[in-house]
Amino acid sequence: MTSTTSTMMDVPLTIDLIVDRAERWMGDGEVVSRRPDKRLTRTTYRAVVERARRLARALIGAGIARGDRVATLMWNHSEHLEAYFGIPLAGAVTHTLNLRLHPDEIAYVASDAGDRIVIVDDVLVPLLDKVIAAGGRFERVIVVGNPGDHEPYEAFLAGAPDAALPLLAETDPLATCYTSGTTGKPKGVVYSHRSTLLHTLVAALPDALDLSRGDTLLPVVPMFHVNAWGLPYVAAMTGAKLVFPGPHLDPPSLLDLLAGERVTVAAGVPTIWLGIREAMDAAPDRWKLMPGLRMIVGGSAAPEQLIRDFDRLGMTLLHAWGMTEMSPLGLVSRVPPELADADEATRYRIRARQGVPPPLVDLRIRNEAGDVPRDDKTSGEILCRGPWIAGSYFHGAAPEKWTTDGFFRTGDVARIDQHGFVQLTDRIADLIKSGGEWIASQELENALMGHPAVREAAVIGVPHPKWSERPVALYVLKPGATASADELRAFLAARFPKFWLPDAFEEIDAIPRTSAGKFRKTELRQRYQGHFAPR
Ligand code: AMP
Repeated sequence: MTSTTSTMMDVPLTIDLIVDRAERWMGDGEVVSRRPDKRLTRTTYRAVVERARRLARALIGAGIARGDRVATLMWNHSEHLEAYFGIPLAGAVTHTLNLRLHPDEIAYVASDAGDRIVIVDDVLVPLLDKVIAAGGRFERVIVVGNPGDHEPYEAFLAGAPDAALPLLAETDPLATCYTSGTTGKPKGVVYSHRSTLLHTLVAALPDALDLSRGDTLLPVVPMFHVNAWGLPYVAAMTGAKLVFPGPHLDPPSLLDLLAGERVTVAAGVPTIWLGIREAMDAAPDRWKLMPGLRMIVGGSAAPEQLIRDFDRLGMTLLHAWGMTEMSPLGLVSRVPPELADADEATRYRIRARQGVPPPLVDLRIRNEAGDVPRDDKTSGEILCRGPWIAGSYFHGAAPEKWTTDGFFRTGDVARIDQHGFVQLTDRIADLIKSGGEWIASQELENALMGHPAVREAAVIGVPHPKWSERPVALYVLKPGATASADELRAFLAARFPKFWLPDAFEEIDAIPRTSAGKFRKTELRQRYQGHFAPR
């Protein structure tokens, strides 16, 4: 007899699977938080889950219904973790507001998402007041820490009724994040229980982020930025100890915490690690870090030089790529076994690439001619499909971001080598069109950041009367270093076709950044738009 159905249980992939396990089997796992006054507080997964359940019941008591949005305006700490679990356990959706946005923008996303309640850190109440003055509307404001005139979080938890928690479906929404909106208005991405669970499982794999119970994880990446890259869920699933930095993100504070808590894995954008390297260079004997400390880096390209520098310090940078729409994991770069014995230059080149997709992500690089060959020359846009990749935006915004065959258009341009390693070359919006030919700005800036005197560099397209656009390089030098424009030009000339070489090299004090630490090239383009204008 042939069977047409499986005999397996149909267990929904919902967050309570992680939460219950963290409580029952990983209960003693430690969660450490640094507070605004720099004090460290310590709790356990057992206590976090117990309080998260209380938060869920309190929210239900406050009238929060299935699918309602509850906002957080918080730094990384254990109460934010309680919200990560407690809000979805109530059947509601966590909306992590990005505290680095302008109050007008926070008000916009809060109203677009329809947030009903906001849980806010006491130190962020002044910001919330500005958000409310800018039109942000919340039925209730619940404050963690010193409540002032508002409702205290602890009292809200203490008043939780004896309500039953809802049965969750795996397709239920669990959290929402907004895209950073460098082009147009921010757009909402709504993660489901299922998408989050699958992302969590795969992110922990050895060839992905490689996290397990023996690790101590410090997410520098904010919990309001793509759910801290999903790491809090991964930590709770594996039982890894969690260390939260609170608002103290300056390099010495982070280094104290990394050393003091014997952190084994940390995660943040390249700027964080640039700052850490400089602090360690300035005081080489001050910090005793765990040997082999791994640092996950993403959000912008990790300069190859940074990877080399940290190796010399006995620390390993792991380069990953992703985006809000992808939960975020899309590529990770680890040297494959067939290249383990390759020369040093090859291995560093591989590690500085964005890498290969993890399981369940179908990633293509496509141009007008179709999927690009693995020649490391032909470039196209990265397209993705997978169970943790957005299939639409909230309210159905920007449907043109999806191909007719169901792939998400990332807006990132890349090429791929014979080993299958993807190299990002630019954002489509940042590509420079000069005399009908394309120039990839990120490739130029990555190369410039390999110059020993250059701390950071951004290359932008500037309107030009003859060529339509020409590249201009803006750079920040390392403290005490010097480099002339001619020297930098000669440095690039060895690597790129002549027409790619920027027409101008300008030293600037700092490169403007977005709330997520990416270069704000729109601002630079505005600043330099008249550079080639006929006088
Ligand atoms: P966000 O949605 O704010 O996380 O931004 C996602 C975008 O950041 C991607 O589309 C890329 O353009 C950029 N990005 C993320 N990771 C990397 C990386 N490792 N290298 C270069 N760009 C990156």
